[in-house]
Amino acid sequence: MIGISILGATGSIGTSTLDVISQHPDKFKVVGLSANSNNYKMLTLIERFQPQCVAMADESAAKDLNKMVQDKKLNCEVLSGVNGVREVARLDAAAYVMASIVGAAGLEPTLDAVRLGKRVLLANKESLVMSGELFMQEVANSGAELLPIDSEHNAIFQALGENYGKSLDESGVEKIILTASGGPFFKDKDRDFSVITPEQAVAHPNWSMGKKISVDSASMMNKGLEVIEACWLFDATPDQVDVVVHPQSVIHSMVEYVDGSVLAQLGNPDMRTPIANAMAWPERIGAGVKRLNMFEVGRLDFFQPDMERFPCLRLAYDAVSEGGTMPAVLNAANEIAVASFLDGKIRFTQIQKVISETMEKLGKLNAENLQVIQQQSQKAEATAAQIVSALS
Ligand code: NAD
Ligand code: MG
Repeated sequence: MIGISILGATGSIGTSTLDVISQHPDKFKVVGLSANSNNYKMLTLIERFQPQCVAMADESAAKDLNKMVQDKKLNCEVLSGVNGVREVARLDAAAYVMASIVGAAGLEPTLDAVRLGKRVLLANKESLVMSGELFMQEVANSGAELLPIDSEHNAIFQALGENYGKSLDESGVEKIILTASGGPFFKDKDRDFSVITPEQAVAHPNWSMGKKISVDSASMMNKGLEVIEACWLFDATPDQVDVVVHPQSVIHSMVEYVDGSVLAQLGNPDMRTPIANAMAWPERIGAGVKRLNMFEVGRLDFFQPDMERFPCLRLAYDAVSEGGTMPAVLNAANEIAVASFLDGKIRFTQIQKVISETMEKLGKLNAENLQVIQQQSQKAEATAAQIVSALS
């Protein structure tokens, strides 16, 4: 029986992870769960999965949850705040940790699990984007097993097979090819992006996901963050990572080898596949996913990404090429810009403006240690917020 903690248990990835676990009660036991503020959902998860400990980042949500747990006489410790979430990541009983908090808030708890040498199932791409080099050093130091959950990176992990962890040169890999659905607006070439509403932006054609990543997919910042994530996970330079728009989201990504072979992983767009893959690796387990029917799919299309219509993708390539703290600045400015767009404070087209101006204002520092990265990230949040108020 493998003990697992799920950080971000009430979210989209958390829910899919719990679904896979409930299909394999003989293999996995939930020992810890964490979430931000949804204490009613957490209460149902405690009753269903009986973890030894849970944490709510929001202190008042934790207090209310604790009362409900006492009233119901449930045997579960309720922790609160950032430190509570970090404790769930560090539980001795958790050999595996699903890192599925959204955004920069995932960085510290994910690193905690890494430092303890656990198997870390990484969905929280923002933590790797922010602190790539330090993060990968911690993985090397502790011997943690870092397995990608992001569908593209999990596809590449599968296509690399035994080469995962080796250098691309040594593996005979020439290119990593990330596929992108293009989001809800790719096909509509004449669309006026300035009047896109939050409801339209979160309506992804192929995937059902949390709001932040849905907006990132619509702006193609998600693909930009994934380019940076791929550079760190697979030790690639930005020019070794290509993006191909593939609207059907059937091929989840590809690896091109020096002999001309291109290996791809295909499947219906359902996150339970990469989650089950990483949980069971090197074995395979069922995920409850609908089988891919090639005749229903019919055709697979591929297009060049358009960096003029989707400037966020270009900004991410710029940030990773500059290096240092620039990806952390990009990430923080994007988080503020997306939240402001969802709140109706700025237009969709102003997301990229907030990010590029923040990057210009802050410039790059060497990402020497975590403190520098976090300070720059906080500065970028404040700068982006000022730019937003000037716009709204
Ligand atoms: P979501 O918004 O559905 O869920 C986020 C989870 O994080 C929730 O449980 C929430 O309570 C928790 N959370 C939010 N703020 C927090 C804070 N400050 N402290 C502690 N916990 C907090 O998001 P999601 O779609 O599940 O995405 C989670 C992560 O996985 C993101 O980094 C995203 O980029 C990545 N990812 C998601 C998908 C997908 O299909 N949803 C695919 C690939 C990668
Ligand atoms: Mg992805």
